[in-house]
Parts: sequence; structure tokens; C-alpha cells
Amino acid sequence: MKSLRIIVLAKQVPDTRNVGKNAMKADGTVNRAALPAIFNPEDLNALEQALRLKDRFPGSVITLLTMGPGRAAEVIREGLYRGADGGVLLTDRAFAGADTLATSYALACAIRKMKEFDLIIAGRQAIDGDTAQVGPQVAEKLSLPQVTYVEEITSLTGNKITLKRRLERGIETVEAPLPCVLTVNASAPDCRPRNARAIMKFKHARTITERQNASEDYILLYHERPYLDIPEWSVNDIRTDIIQLGLSGSPTKVKKIENIVFQAKETKRITSDDGSINAFMKELIDNHTLG
Ligand SMILES: Cc1cc2nc3c(=O)[nH]c(=O)nc-3n(C[C@H](O)[C@H](O)[C@H](O)COP(=O)(O)OP(=O)(O)OC[C@H]3O[C@@H](n4cnc5c(N)ncnc54)[C@H](O)[C@@H]3O)c2cc1C
Repeated sequence: MKSLRIIVLAKQVPDTRNVGKNAMKADGTVNRAALPAIFNPEDLNALEQALRLKDRFPGSVITLLTMGPGRAAEVIREGLYRGADGGVLLTDRAFAGADTLATSYALACAIRKMKEFDLIIAGRQAIDGDTAQVGPQVAEKLSLPQVTYVEEITSLTGNKITLKRRLERGIETVEAPLPCVLTVNASAPDCRPRNARAIMKFKHARTITERQNASEDYILLYHERPYLDIPEWSVNDIRTDIIQLGLSGSPTKVKKIENIVFQAKETKRITSDDGSINAFMKELIDNHTLG
């Protein structure tokens, strides 16, 4: 039976679903410090797909890859607690200010360094950027086939994966050769919860930066249990063209940022009987809201 090497792309994002009054700075940019940092929701759906494959193909290895500041190591720990085997934090000031093009370039360079993999699974989109571009761009940069909007992996035999894609008007079943890149929708099954054994095993997993002030006991612990090391890669650890990273590699220019405040205007409550609905539809058509 085949065991797979799966890379899951996971991003730490500000929780834009729980926006308070300090969520935006005066200049209109997101106040990341004021929002809790979470595992991007659709990346959890992506992780669950990887975990299901690991259930089906024992011996498979799931590695998380995240690019972000030092605190993004939290995403890797969270993935380890839910069943991933390892993770890499890609972090360097040179990556800061990256748009999707520079982000996918850095991720693709890191994946090249990982060398061997059968599948790369990303979320469809991140809740802060919302572009859904990074997964497809990674596939382009690595010259790999890609399947987007994945809801279910129905089978994997030999070198062929069969998937269900959730589209606006239905479901499409597609086949792709391995290796390939998948992006997974929120409509896919939720990620399983943390596992108590995995929490016990990985609760001390740290990057080298996080371990800087560790006591003697802990230094010994990391020596004895190398799986507790979360590899931290900087720009010097991956082969890149530095111009294509961070701000210099980001052609996106933000021209204007507007704050939009949604206000409830006039509301109308109707009952769910046919007569009320018909009367309301007629009113909407008469005042040209519909039709
Ligand atoms: C000019 C400019 C400057 C910016 N500067 C910064 C900055 O300094 N810091 C910052 O955090 N953001 C910055 N951003 C936002 C950044 O461009 C996007 O968040 C990032 O490129 C990912 O795009 P997205 O969020 O739309 O991801 P999507 O394309 O919606 O994400 C799709 C999937 O790709 C994967 N993915 C995306 N990003 C990552 C990642 N970092 N690591 C691992 N997997 C990932 C995930 O699986 C995700 O579900 C900047 C944007 C612009 C336009």
C-alpha cells in the first residue's frame, strides 16, 4: 500500500470574523495586533483532507508549511496536535510585505527544498487576503497540475487522484495525476479536534528562536527528542532570487483603502405564507428592486 508525502499550506491569519472597534488602524490597514491570530479556517479543511489520506494510507507523512512572523509557529503546533507529523516555518524580514505573487514564490522555493512530495494541499483562500490566488500560483511555479474548490477526495490509486469539486451550480468529479496541488473549500469536512496524545507529544515543540531562552533541562529535551524541533527557514535556507521576495517582488499596489460601514436601513418582516411572499415579491417588482 502506498504511503504519501503530503505538504499542507497553512497560514496564520487575524480573526477577521470577530472584528472589534480596534480592528482597523487610522490609516485604514488591518490592526493585526488587535485581532486574535488563528489557523486560517479553510487550511483546517485542507489539513483534514490530508489526515483522511493518512488514515487510508498508513505511514503517510504530513508536513505543514507556513510563511509568517515567528508567532506563526503556533499554526504548526496546532497542526501537530491534530495529527500532522511535522512543519516548517518560513520566516524572514525579507518576506515581509509580500503580495500573493511573492508569497507563492517563497512557498514554492521552500517546497523545492523539501524535494519529495506527492500532494500539496492548501485552503481555497485566506480570510484576511481573500484572493484564493496562492494555491494556484504555487502550482504554476512548480509546473504542477492543480484542482481547486476540492470538497472530497474520493479515491487515490497508483498515480491518480479522483476528487469532487464544489462549484456554484453543482459538483464536478475530476481526476488528476500525482503530484498535484489541491485547494480545499470550507464546504469540505471540518478538521478533527486536537488529539490528547499528540498534545502530550508535541506540547514542547518549538522553533530555534522560541527556544533561545530555554533552561538546561529543555535543551537536553530537544536533544533527546529531535521531533520537537520546528525547523525555521530564513531566506538563506532556500534558493531564491531575492528581488522576487517581499515588497520588491510584489507588483500589487494598494491605491486606496476605504472603510465600509454596513448599516441596517429599512427592514420589513413578513410571514412565511404564500400570500405574504407573493405580495412582497410584487412590491419588489413594482418598485424595480427586482426584475
Ligand atoms: C502590497 C501588499 C503588502 C502586503 N504585506 C503583507 C505583510 O507584510 N504581511 C502579511 O501577512 N500580509 C501582507 N499582505 C497580504 C498578503 O499579500 C496576502 O495575505 C498573502 O499574499 C496571501 O494571500 P491571501 O491572503 O489572499 O491568500 P489566498 O490566496 O487567499 O490563500 C490561499 C491559500 O494559500 C495558502 N497560503 C496563503 N498564504 C500563505 C502563507 N503565508 N503561508 C502558507 N500558506 C499560505 C493557504 O493554504 C491559503 O488558504 C500584503 C499584501 C499586499 C497587496
